[in-house]
Amino acid sequence: MKHFAAGSFVVLIVLLPRIASAQVKMNMKQIAEGVYFMENSAGSSNSTFVITDEGVLVFDFDIRTADQTLAAIRKLTDKKVRYLVSSHSAGDHATGAWHFREDKPVYIATKNQAKDLFMQEAKEFEERGQSSEPSNAAYKGKELVRPDLGFDGSMALYFGGLTFQITAEGTGHSTGDLTVYIPQRRVYLMGDLLDTEIHPGQGESAGVFYSYVKGWIEILDKIMQRNLPVDTYVPGHGPVHAGRGVKDLEEQKRYFVVMRDEVAKMIQAGKNVEQIQKEFKLPQEFAHYRRPERLRTFLRLFYNQLIDRGL
Ligand SMILES: [Zn+2]
Repeated sequence: MKHFAAGSFVVLIVLLPRIASAQVKMNMKQIAEGVYFMENSAGSSNSTFVITDEGVLVFDFDIRTADQTLAAIRKLTDKKVRYLVSSHSAGDHATGAWHFREDKPVYIATKNQAKDLFMQEAKEFEERGQSSEPSNAAYKGKELVRPDLGFDGSMALYFGGLTFQITAEGTGHSTGDLTVYIPQRRVYLMGDLLDTEIHPGQGESAGVFYSYVKGWIEILDKIMQRNLPVDTYVPGHGPVHAGRGVKDLEEQKRYFVVMRDEVAKMIQAGKNVEQIQKEFKLPQEFAHYRRPERLRTFLRLFYNQLIDRGL
């Protein structure tokens, strides 16, 4: 009997981490030569990596899932991870650099991301590392690895025969969103400026929300106005639509414009924010979007930004 009990205990310990990691799976999909998209099955943050003759660049890495990205890279190449780039400072995009430490990559981010990672994001990371919540298990014993290079504006990285045009697009989804355009692969990595088939989040940085709808629409307009030869705009959340091109950006912009119009009509009809959240009718085009709980909080954002800024 004693032996049996000890055996069950061992089984439990072995199973627990498997159960935790089974909740979120990163599914890999190749979208262009050497460009691989890792889709988060739970609708949380995606990751992308690019394999070149000189090594690998990884875009976005969550401490909870970047081990899966690294494992996928190791299966495909023996080249080292040379560069890391995070789209913005939110924990689900910029906390996982630790997983790649063995390869000693150079981590590139905007200066505002670096600031967030020294301040509120660092605090959150530390708190989660000390927490006993099962959802924070991935933070235990890890450290927040911060950027090596911080920049404003734009920069070009010439690496492995490719050009990585890295642009700080300004404040839209977060305190500062960065994109990466790879002209030779006709791929544009959008981070959370683009979410597909899923309601967008509000740009969280350690519990504070930053999304600014006007800025977000302007950034999408600015990118579309470039009329770039791009086959695939890669989303921060949701599935990638390889080959759909600019239609994804048009849909994302339409989402904000249509939703803002609907909220404005309800404000005009004298509704308060609670009534809007309760009575809001989702336009048909967006009815299939995942994570409707995000819409509820975003409606409050539309409401507040219409009231205090008039847009
Ligand atoms: Zn995100």
